[in-house]
Amino acid sequence: MTSTTSIPISIEFFPPKTPEGVEKLRVVRQQLYALKPEFCSVTFGAGGSTQEGTFSTVRDILAEGMNAVSHFSCVGATRATVREQLATLKAMGVKRLVALRGDLPSGFGVGGEFHYASDLVAFIRAETGDYFHLEVAAYPEVHPQARSPESDLKAFVTKVQAGANSAITQYFYNADAYFRFVEEADALGVQIPVVPGIMPIASSTQLMRFSDACGAEIPRWIRLRLQSFGDDTASIRAFGLDVVTDLCEQLRAGGAPGLHFYSMNQSAAILNICQRLGLAS
Ligand code: FAD
Repeated sequence: MTSTTSIPISIEFFPPKTPEGVEKLRVVRQQLYALKPEFCSVTFGAGGSTQEGTFSTVRDILAEGMNAVSHFSCVGATRATVREQLATLKAMGVKRLVALRGDLPSGFGVGGEFHYASDLVAFIRAETGDYFHLEVAAYPEVHPQARSPESDLKAFVTKVQAGANSAITQYFYNADAYFRFVEEADALGVQIPVVPGIMPIASSTQLMRFSDACGAEIPRWIRLRLQSFGDDTASIRAFGLDVVTDLCEQLRAGGAPGLHFYSMNQSAAILNICQRLGLAS
């Protein structure tokens, strides 16, 4: 049976690369605003590669009267560039950031003046006090470059102790991994909300490619079912809606503090899932 308990949602976009993409995203956002998201966030390319697109998408969201959150990655950055970007974001009226290390471009070392997201969180706190609400990333299935699950959990606790207000997880399709992560973080004194990141399933190849890169596990039964549909997009989408709605149900029933949707700049799946969850008016 479907519960209709309300749960806050937030939605993530990436900055489009073309004028057509910008226009398309404008339409997608309007459709998704009907869900009354608590905030909409915009990703930020490592090394500031998408900074202009990120900031202009954030500006658009703010102009539409919504709470816009900028992701902010520090890989390759210097204190001076971060200080400058923080001043720009403050002047734009941004009050919330997702503070990240970022993904390292292949062939490069860590470089820059920040090694880990915890360094960035500490720097932002030292520079701007409590002005920003800071989100950090969490990995219920362990970050792919972590030395061990224990060291990854410790790294998460360090980010929280450096001053994070809340966290958003990498996506996953195994609710137990999330609940265990939250329990273990709680046992280490983490009190902040850890919001599960939700990736709707729209295309099987895209999902496999993405998941391999970011270390999110696709359970065998989901992988095999997706493979069995071949190019039958309608069946993939229908199956994906069932799987992801069930996952959201389990997370809500287990007390997750919110649902953060990775939109991939598409609205249909999120609207459908939220409707099934009784979250669409
Ligand atoms: P960190 O928390 O710094 O962790 C990185 C690695 O270092 C982990 O393996 C950790 O275990 C290890 N580590 C951390 N501290 C220590 C320490 N003191 N000693 C030893 N090891 C340590 N990427 C983008 O480029 N742009 C985005 O906009 C973006 N948005 C994201 C949003 C969310 C919600 C999530 C979950 C991820 C996002 N990413 C984004 C991906 C993210 O940048 C990558 O996963 C990146 O590889 C790690 O970033 P982090 O902030 O989690 O790093």
